[in-house]
Amino acid sequence: MWGFGLCVKPRAHLDIGMQCCYRFLSEKIPVTMSHTSGGAVRIADLIAHKKPFISLEFFPPKEKAEWPAFFGTVERLAQLDPLFVSVTYGAGGSTQSDTLEIVTRLTRDHGLEAMAHLTCVGATPEAIRAFLDQLSKAGVHNVLALRGDPPKDAPAEFATCKELQYASDLVTFIRSGYPDLGLGVAGYPETHPEAESPRSDLEYLKLKLDQGGDFIITQLFFDNQSYFDFVRRARELGIEKPIIPGIIPVVSLKVINRIISLCGATIPAAFMAELEEADRRGGAAAVQDIGVAYARRQAQELLASGAPGIHLYTLNRADVILELTKGLLP
Ligand code: FAD
Repeated sequence: MWGFGLCVKPRAHLDIGMQCCYRFLSEKIPVTMSHTSGGAVRIADLIAHKKPFISLEFFPPKEKAEWPAFFGTVERLAQLDPLFVSVTYGAGGSTQSDTLEIVTRLTRDHGLEAMAHLTCVGATPEAIRAFLDQLSKAGVHNVLALRGDPPKDAPAEFATCKELQYASDLVTFIRSGYPDLGLGVAGYPETHPEAESPRSDLEYLKLKLDQGGDFIITQLFFDNQSYFDFVRRARELGIEKPIIPGIIPVVSLKVINRIISLCGATIPAAFMAELEEADRRGGAAAVQDIGVAYARRQAQELLASGAPGIHLYTLNRADVILELTKGLLP
């Protein structure tokens, strides 16, 4: 979520528990698949060979004491055979080493294809290089290249590195030094909140791909038509790479209201009315039932309409994601 991968102060995102996932590699990847040097696999290659798929996004738990439970959640969700799992990254600096340690363990101990999110706002080229070198040593071969958002209380000089102002700068930087890395980028079906216009936002998305991005993961959305329109507009502009829709289950009104206030996504009025009614009738449990069923219907329609797969903002919740994905994939 970040997709809701969110467009906000990362800690806040983590605070609401949102920030808001192969074992199969050896047996399922055809021998003809293109590997980068050293045997690394790019997620874009995996996408080309396995459709439909799901991928799972996690956020680093705040406290180390929560890590055993977190890795228990990962193990429960590994049974879904996700194409890849991704781990968010705090643009403000708070969770960056946790991101590194978690993707390392997901790769080494859990046999998952892990992707680290990485933001460039407030970062120096040296710090980015150090992070990428450590990823490489850990056998992590894919990165979601993001700008990030400066923390709300950041000093004016926080975002001073002219070399790395936008995600496209980060993509260019990574491609020049790490040509083998798989690179995802973020896309916004409802347009990024700071964009000059939907058109300019799409042009900057194209720039990220022209500079070397392999695929797009979208910000969360609740109206599939916004994804269908986004894909059509992107294709008209010449963007041909895979566009993976990001879907989040609503688990409570408080959480979802916080998320949409942060990332600017809109909830259809009828769906919000249904959630509010459920809240009055049966509280949080009823809201979650409606929210999970809605996300499952969204995912079913997206896959039936040709989306390559579904990226799920898991909220680190195994129960919710296992329920959501029941019967989703063939
Ligand atoms: P960019 O692509 O750089 O775009 C940012 C804004 O600048 C847009 O309005 C764009 O139109 C505009 N723009 C782009 N290039 C230029 C240019 N050259 N000149 C002028 N304007 C330009 N945040 C985190 O902190 N950690 C995470 O782990 C995280 N994960 C995410 C995962 C997903 C799937 C998504 C969708 C978002 C995630 N985010 C995360 C949030 C993201 O960092 C924010 O949405 C941020 O505001 C924008 O990042 P971006 O990479 O899309 O930026």
